[in-house]
Amino acid sequence: MKTVLFAGVLIVLVGAPAALFFLSSSSALDIDPSPKALASENSLAVKVDNPHGVRQLNLRLEQGGARSYASVQQPANRFLFWRKKLAPTTQTLQLTAKPDQGFKSGPATLIVEATSNDLRGAVTSKTYDVVINLAPPRVVADGAQHYINQGGAELVTFTVSGYWTEAGVKVGNYKFRSFPMPGSKNENERFCLFAFPWDTPENTTPLVYAANPAGQEVTTQFWYRIKPKKFRQRELDLTDTFIDKAINEIDPGSPAGDKLQHFLHINGDIRRSDNKTLADLRNQTEPRFLWAPPFQQLSNSKVEAFFADVRSYMYGGKKVDQQVHLGFDLSKVAHAPVVASNSGKVVYADRLGIYGNCVVIDHGYGLQSIYGHMSSIGVKKGQMVQRGEELGKSGATGLAGGDHLHFSMQIDGVQVNPVEWWDEHWIHDRIQSKIPESAFAKP
Ligand SMILES: [Zn+2]
Repeated sequence: MKTVLFAGVLIVLVGAPAALFFLSSSSALDIDPSPKALASENSLAVKVDNPHGVRQLNLRLEQGGARSYASVQQPANRFLFWRKKLAPTTQTLQLTAKPDQGFKSGPATLIVEATSNDLRGAVTSKTYDVVINLAPPRVVADGAQHYINQGGAELVTFTVSGYWTEAGVKVGNYKFRSFPMPGSKNENERFCLFAFPWDTPENTTPLVYAANPAGQEVTTQFWYRIKPKKFRQRELDLTDTFIDKAINEIDPGSPAGDKLQHFLHINGDIRRSDNKTLADLRNQTEPRFLWAPPFQQLSNSKVEAFFADVRSYMYGGKKVDQQVHLGFDLSKVAHAPVVASNSGKVVYADRLGIYGNCVVIDHGYGLQSIYGHMSSIGVKKGQMVQRGEELGKSGATGLAGGDHLHFSMQIDGVQVNPVEWWDEHWIHDRIQSKIPESAFAKP
């Protein structure tokens, strides 16, 4: 009897803490976004996943003998913690790396450490290699004169210094990537092919910018002159035949309902989504010039519509919609051969909503050409094509009333007026004169 009682006491005295000990858990830790560069003041979001929460969360930054700390505490919970099932939380801590604390620009080590809020109080830690960056990058643009057409393109060269991870050109809300200057061994010597988008006010100043991951950004101006463009206004009469064709071809099987509403969905939402698909092809560009001047227009074709025509859609005598036409409509004869405007790599060859059968060719450094409404496609994604090589036949697939080629160009996902690229003089003055000749493909 005495032994049993003794054993019982022993279980209470030793067993319960042992059980509590084994019920204790450890933490999963992560800093999101992952800290790569720190400035003198930093706000770091630490994700903590522990069903019992954490009693103590520490951040420690070390660089040589310099140290800085940040921490948060919770009241200890050593016994009833096992009743808790906490969801992962994010705690934001402020951490400094100031010169008066002994820090300077350069590599450092960041340690995050969490103590579980339970009996065992397991300590979990994670170490990050970071770069302290106490100076913003510097950027110097070229001294050339930049004449820019609204809706068109231009190229600027510049040099970045300091620690940076992103550099290019900003035009209003648009950003364009830069690339290392071909032939230069210095990654800091860059060029950026950018657009002055058709929907950007003419008084917008294009800026070269450079940024580091600590959020420090610098910009610089360069000499430029914008040539404003008056885009045409056009009325387009919608017939029931045209609407039926659009619905059957582009969005069949959708709940019927009002025919006009269905058409407006295609002309608005589907158009936007198709343009996003085209814009995203910017991520499939080669970092080299695949083309040589000039770009070739569909020969002997008639221009039916211009870039950035503002179209009012009329139905039953009323204006029901307005959209901007981001390309050239070129007509010839039905099922005319459609050829590559220049050499490059096919990055899209498939149906694409309002564009019907569509081919996109990447010419390198973010420059791409777009061919829409084709009756047939004769190339495959990934295939290299030469200027003048047949891509398929013209047609009226997608949102097209008759057989024609919809042709457009885009820079870093922003559609631009292709007319500049058909002009050898423009290409020479605006593009080639700023880049070593050897960088271009052999014509
Ligand atoms: Zn068109």
